Amino acid sequence: MKVHVDPEICIGCGLCAGICPVVFRMEDGKAVVIVEIVPAASCTACRQASQECPVQAIVIKET
Ligand code: SF4
Repeated sequence: MKVHVDPEICIGCGLCAGICPVVFRMEDGKAVVIVEIVPAASCTACRQASQECPVQAIVIKET
């Protein structure tokens, strides 16, 4: 699956980087995705991050 953060929407709360530091990192006050393509089976934390993001800035596309 593919993970994307919309920088226009992200408010830089840091929640996603806290939940899944393997995929998300904070840069200049916004979250960026370090590993864009994530094997779905091994990633439950980034799904959780996407659900808990307060502004729904994280988009997960099944590939
Ligand atoms: S949880 Fe959402 S708003 Fe917070 S840093 Fe991550 S993408 Fe940005």
